[in-house]
Amino acid sequence: YSAKAERNTYRIYTPRMSDQARERLKLENDMRRALEENQFYLVYQPLVDLHSGNVTGVEALLRWEHPERGVVPPHLFIPIAEETGLINEIGEWVIRTACAQNKAWQDAGLPPFIVSVNLSMRQFHQHDLADRIRAILDETGLEPRWVGLEITESMTADVEFAYETLRKLKEVGVQISLDDFGTGYSSLSYLKRYPIDKLKIDRSFVADLDRDGNDAAIVSTIAAMARHLNMRVTAEGVESEEQLRFLRAELCEEAQGFYYTRPVTADAFVKWYHEHRQDQEACSER
Ligand code: C2E
Ligand code: MG
Ligand code: MG
Ligand code: MG
Repeated sequence: YSAKAERNTYRIYTPRMSDQARERLKLENDMRRALEENQFYLVYQPLVDLHSGNVTGVEALLRWEHPERGVVPPHLFIPIAEETGLINEIGEWVIRTACAQNKAWQDAGLPPFIVSVNLSMRQFHQHDLADRIRAILDETGLEPRWVGLEITESMTADVEFAYETLRKLKEVGVQISLDDFGTGYSSLSYLKRYPIDKLKIDRSFVADLDRDGNDAAIVSTIAAMARHLNMRVTAEGVESEEQLRFLRAELCEEAQGFYYTRPVTADAFVKWYHEHRQDQEACSER
C-alpha cells in the first residue's frame, strides 16, 4: 500500500466506523427492551445417535425477532450482549425457556432427551451460576440429567476456576459439553481432568471431510481421543450422507446438522421428530 492509498482508506474508514458505532448503540438499546417485549425465542436442532438413529438431544439456539430488522442471528448480537452484561439476563431466560420446553415435551409423551444450552463467558463467571440453574430446575420440574451446558475451550483458560465451576455444575447433575472443539487452545493434560461428558467436533472440520485429508484425520483423532477419555463425541454441521458414512466408520457416536434439519421452532421440531421416527421404522422393516 502507498501512503496515499492508506490515507484514502483512513478517510473512508472513519465515517464507517462511527456508523458502526451508532448501529451498535441502537442494537444495544433495542436489546434492553427485547426481553420485556418477548422478542427472543429459541429454535432447536436435534442430535442423532449414529448407531440407533435415536434423538439423544436437542441444542437450543437463540434468535431475536427485531421489530424492524427481522430475525437477527446470534453472532450479530451475542457479542454485544456479552460486552454490556445483558447476556446474564438473556442467558438465564434461555436456560429457563429450554428447560420448561423440555419438560413440556416429556409431559406430552416424547421419550426423554437432553436439551443443551450454550453458555457465554460472562455467564460461566457468574459466581452463583450453579444455584441459578438448580433454581430453574426446581421451578420447571425438569430432572438435571436432561440438561446439557455447552462451554467453549476459551472458558477453560483459567484452569483452577474452570475446574471449580465445572465441579459445581456437575454437582447439580447436568451434562457438560465442550463446544467447537478443536478451534481453541485447550490443553490435553487438563482436558482429561475436567468433568466433561462430551466433545463437539467443530463444524469447520466436518465441512471438508470429503475433500480435505487433514480434516478427516483430525475428526478421526478427536473421535478416538474422546473414546479413550470416556467422553461422548458429536460431529457438528453434518450436511451430507458422505460425511455421515465417514463419521460412522470412525465410530463417532452422534451427529447434528442440516442433514437432519436446520434449527427449528419447538412445534416444527415435534413434527420433524415424528417424521424421523417413521423414517427409522420404515428403514428397520426393510
Ligand atoms: P454453536 O453452539 O456451535 O451452534 C451451532 C451453530 O451451527 C448454529 O448456528 C447452527 O445453526 C449451525 N449449524 C448447525 N448445523 C449446521 C450445518 O449443517 N451447517 C452449517 N453451516 N451450520 C450449521 P447459530 O444458531 O447461528 O448459532 C451460532 C452460535 O451462536 C452458536 O454456535 C453459539 O456459539 C452462539 N449461540 C447461539 N445461541 C446461544 C445462546 O443462547 N447463548 C449463547 N451464549 N450463545 C449462543
Ligand atoms: Mg453449541
Ligand atoms: Mg458448536
Ligand atoms: Mg460451532
